[in-house]
Amino acid sequence: MRALVKHRAGPELELQTGRAVPECGPRDVLIRVLKAGICGTDRHIWEWDAWAAGRIPVGITTGHEFVGIIERVGSAVTKYSPGLRVSAEGHICSWSDYNARTGAAHIARDTQILGVDRDGCFAEYVCVPEENVWPVHPSIPDHVAAILDPLGNAVHTVMAANVSAKTVLITGVGIIGLMAVTVAKAAGASRIFVTDLDEKRLALAQKLGACAAYKANDPNWIEKVRKQTRGDGPDALIEMSGHPAAIDDGFKCLRMGGTAALLGIPSRPIAFDLTNHVIFKGATVLGINGRKMFETWYQMEELLLSGRLELDEIITHQLPFDQFRKGFELMQSGEGIKVVLEIGGR
Ligand code: ZN
Repeated sequence: MRALVKHRAGPELELQTGRAVPECGPRDVLIRVLKAGICGTDRHIWEWDAWAAGRIPVGITTGHEFVGIIERVGSAVTKYSPGLRVSAEGHICSWSDYNARTGAAHIARDTQILGVDRDGCFAEYVCVPEENVWPVHPSIPDHVAAILDPLGNAVHTVMAANVSAKTVLITGVGIIGLMAVTVAKAAGASRIFVTDLDEKRLALAQKLGACAAYKANDPNWIEKVRKQTRGDGPDALIEMSGHPAAIDDGFKCLRMGGTAALLGIPSRPIAFDLTNHVIFKGATVLGINGRKMFETWYQMEELLLSGRLELDEIITHQLPFDQFRKGFELMQSGEGIKVVLEIGGR
């Protein structure tokens, strides 16, 4: 089969044609991939930064966001049959540790990530355990079903921050930050403020429902947001940038007693004013990892079926599989936001 492989300990990926179809166990499902999204994580793997070099095994098939059709099921699989259109939760665990057994499998100790720790979905076929399969509702189109993984990150973060009838600040409107804008709007946030350095994305965030958008380097944006929130600051902070200055400003702006849900990942340990930002502020701080299995998936499906999510301008490109290089370049240049690869036909 064709597969996009990390072929060496260095930049780029190679489209290999003679890759073996993955071997599935009795409790696994083999899925023929239709479409797959390129993630920021894939971009780190493509660029081979320090994180990728320390984590990604050379020879792995990359990719973790996809939709496909079940091709074959293992002998012990009971819930699904060939022909079903599905996506899958890309965090795979053995369901044996404390968290997995008490409803928090998204932070299981032995989690393996598709396309990071084991062969992924930038390939004609991908194999996942039956437990990870998510049947896709018929009214959700393929290009949207291909990006449920990152959309789920946005849904998990926004739902954790409990935004209904509250003012929300989203720091960083990259792919998932933009998704968080439309999700927060759909989830009933009263007013959404956003910051970023990219003016195009700030404009798109406003189109998606943000009431105000500020350049992150505007020295007065915190004061401007405070003025619009009775001087208190926003009720919730949704941190999507991972940038130390954005995190610092976000906490400065947050209302006393507010809630911060953090998804953005700083590239190294950062200095942080715990005293003022959390302790004296009385803030609730939530670390967000992956998607709750499978509460987030049900919430996401309901939000999609409500018709209130606007994803068309976030999914900017759909490209044939062999144009993967263009896909990564579109992401690097910022011209593309979410790029979806067309891996196989129906
Ligand atoms: Zn992803």
